[in-house]
Amino acid sequence: MSDLFPGEVSREYDLYTTHSDVYSGEIVLRNELRDFLFGTADSPRRGFYILYRRASKRQLCSCVNPQTREKESGCTLCSKMGFVFYDEMIMTYLSNASLRVGVKSLESVDDVGISHPHVPKFYFQHTVDPSMNDEIIVCNQYDDGTLVTPVEKKRTYNILNVIAYRDINGRIAYYSCISE
Ligand SMILES: [Zn+2]
Repeated sequence: MSDLFPGEVSREYDLYTTHSDVYSGEIVLRNELRDFLFGTADSPRRGFYILYRRASKRQLCSCVNPQTREKESGCTLCSKMGFVFYDEMIMTYLSNASLRVGVKSLESVDDVGISHPHVPKFYFQHTVDPSMNDEIIVCNQYDDGTLVTPVEKKRTYNILNVIAYRDINGRIAYYSCISE
């Protein structure tokens, strides 16, 4: 039997076993991202903190019309999200994604035609469980990556997509969110 179908090994495997217990030398993506974000004794921190504004999936704001589900544009309670929300300070890593088609509000027309934008792509640990109702708020930070307090908001991003990267047995290793 080839290594592609490690029959004997997989019998020992369950969701709560780390890969390295079973496959010696196998990397564990959750741990790799944690070390990448927070740094270790041997490697620098590459992440920084943002405010993660999590919309409650169960509780709409009082400004939402129960029939039409429309929210009031000027609502100050939910800052136009339409949901009750709460903020968390979460470590993330920021990179760029380029989009070929689609998001009209991001496209710009210049001398050579329509240019496709580079948009921010945030990476989150498996515990974050992002949703497209949520918002990512980038704030001023100290050199150690923590947020300046009181919080100074720089920019709020809407989440355009959420990708869950899965590992062995379908367990979620980490998330990415393209945002605008
Ligand atoms: Zn509201």
